[in-house]
Amino acid sequence: MRLSSEKLLLWIGEQDNPIKINRLKDNVTDSVINYYGQQKPKLSYKPGRLLLDSGAFTATMRGLKLSRERVIAIQERFNPDLAIPLDYPFKPGMTVREMRYAWKKTKENMLFWQNNTTLSGRILPTLHSWSKKALQQNIQWIYKHIDAEYIALGVVVDKFFMNFRGFFRDRQPSLSIIRNLYNAISIIKRTTDFKIHVMGMGSSPLMLHITYYLGADSMDTIGWRRKAAFGKIILPERGERYVCDRVGNFSRRRPTIHELKILSECDCEICRVNPTLLFTDWRARAIHNEFVIKREAEKARQLLNIGRDAYEEYLDRVFAKSKYGLQYLWKYVKLLVKYPPLTVR
Ligand SMILES: [Zn+2]
Repeated sequence: MRLSSEKLLLWIGEQDNPIKINRLKDNVTDSVINYYGQQKPKLSYKPGRLLLDSGAFTATMRGLKLSRERVIAIQERFNPDLAIPLDYPFKPGMTVREMRYAWKKTKENMLFWQNNTTLSGRILPTLHSWSKKALQQNIQWIYKHIDAEYIALGVVVDKFFMNFRGFFRDRQPSLSIIRNLYNAISIIKRTTDFKIHVMGMGSSPLMLHITYYLGADSMDTIGWRRKAAFGKIILPERGERYVCDRVGNFSRRRPTIHELKILSECDCEICRVNPTLLFTDWRARAIHNEFVIKREAEKARQLLNIGRDAYEEYLDRVFAKSKYGLQYLWKYVKLLVKYPPLTVR
């Protein structure tokens, strides 16, 4: 199966207890972890295309161990278009030795998936790396051994990761994440013909655009649903805003009057019919969030069709409006692309 005739894929995260049953027009991503405990795992929605994760990242963060056989059984049963073999993502605080060992086990599983399952030929291999040298070597290993059209960027980190103690679920925008992304994307483009899927970047409009601009061909958006459950809506060309009256220790930026006006122009099925639902019903917020993120991806496709300059001009305008100090990320992205550091040339 070739997916690459489509430009800039966006995979919408869905799960059991789905927001929408009919997803025949969507590229959907889901995870084995959502079905792991079910006796007869079954999808409760109809996907157009399905990218099925192994659940390894969530399991690692929760300290759970997944059975390889069980993951394969569920993946084979769901018969996805792309399947991510059970991998061993790095956790903050791991030593290089531990990361090397985790990568060795990840490689073993990629080969196992390729040689011993019906998912062969539909594998989405995940790249992890802990240094520039490991990045080059691990890309080459996947290129040589795994038959795949896309490669997924998993935990691509540098030596600073060993000191990192933050919450790692959503990738927080930072210069080091941008630099690692840029390094990985440029080496992959220069040394292979893989298309690039970036995990965990598609839930914020600004990070989505930065990642497409850096050269990603595909992304997933999973956070739209979790944000909605936590009382947050996504604003076009901006970020997330909190619209509920609950307490919590997460970011609670509320929309300004100007932003509420932008919101009033939203064309989604909730905002058109009954926008007050955004303040009371998390499923309504989820539907709105999904709509906004899809629109952003569509904008990226249209602008890149015109040319990179058009996209850059658009992003100049978007980041100039950004109120929360994200302009420096965009400036850094442009610097990297215009003056590539010697080490990645
Ligand atoms: Zn809306």
